Amino acid sequence: MGGGIREKHGTAVEDESAGDAGMVVVQDLVRTYGSGDTAVHAVRGVSFTVPRGELVALKGRSGSGKTTLLNLIGGLDRPDSGRVMVDGTELAGLGEKELLALRRDRIGFVFQSFGLIPILTAAENVAVPLRLRKADRRERDERTALLLALVGLDGHAAQRPGELSGGQQQRVAIARALANRPALLVADEPTGQLDAETGRSVMELLRAVVRSEGVTALVATHDAQLIELADRVMELRDGRIILDR
Ligand code: ADP
Ligand code: MG
Repeated sequence: MGGGIREKHGTAVEDESAGDAGMVVVQDLVRTYGSGDTAVHAVRGVSFTVPRGELVALKGRSGSGKTTLLNLIGGLDRPDSGRVMVDGTELAGLGEKELLALRRDRIGFVFQSFGLIPILTAAENVAVPLRLRKADRRERDERTALLLALVGLDGHAAQRPGELSGGQQQRVAIARALANRPALLVADEPTGQLDAETGRSVMELLRAVVRSEGVTALVATHDAQLIELADRVMELRDGRIILDR
């Protein structure tokens, strides 16, 4: 599973796998914005390990550090101190290019605001990561069709985001996040803009793809209904984990 994405990138992120160490390993992670009197200690010494295939819900009220933590794990931001390892690769050891390759090939991102490109169709949006990886047309078309079916949107391939409901847009975003068969899915309040029922179905989809694609997922959410579907729940408060069950 997932072997197909490891060909010819030739960077340090290749040919390593998490083994027993965990898909995500975070140690003593610290991220402070600003300095002096106005410093904001967004993440203050967080450590945990997430095994492969686990769906983890990250809860905590607004400002508790969820987004900051997910950005550090997803390689979108660098910590002040501490370590992040994703699928056996230490992020601090990567240059910008290698980090970009790791994000493109091994991590799928899902955001609250969907982040689809408005002028592209659903299928073209899903295909963006495949194009970035220079997958050939046939693979692109096959993978895109399969992913749209996986998220229940087979009949909507030609529609643009503006012609889709919020729930459908988030399904497209999830399909896109899975395009390159990532090891890790990072979702930051993916149901935050959806009504409760639609949010529930999107979370059930995430639950299903974690099983069917063998991916590991970290999902920040407020929603109690969604938290129920997780294998594990961690709660952040003021940049620290105060609960892990
Ligand atoms: P959450 O996602 O749980 O709402 P965040 O990680 O967004 O929490 O924010 C944690 C803290 O860091 C908050 O106090 C927030 O105001 C602050 N913060 C987040 N991003 C920045 C930034 N780019 N610059 C300064 N402070 C920030
Ligand atoms: Mg946030």
